[in-house]
Amino acid sequence: MTCQELLDLLHDYVGNELVIESRTTVEVHISGCLQCGTLVHAYTHTVRVARALPKCNPLPAAFEARLRAMIEPELKDKPAE
Ligand SMILES: [Zn+2]
Repeated sequence: MTCQELLDLLHDYVGNELVIESRTTVEVHISGCLQCGTLVHAYTHTVRVARALPKCNPLPAAFEARLRAMIEPELKDKPAE
């Protein structure tokens, strides 16, 4: 596995959504690659902190509409995940 391949799987790995074979491959890579090990550690920590945050109130409708109008052109160009 290359570092790029690990990056592609990072989100699913941290979310615990990988099949066991992919998980093992990721773990083998991490144990031998300091750079990816650090990255996975930081990413896992960030996800945990974000999940522990209290839920905020919904945005005011007018603000949300403006925000969506701003970001949607950006999202359109990207391939769906
Ligand atoms: Zn790596």
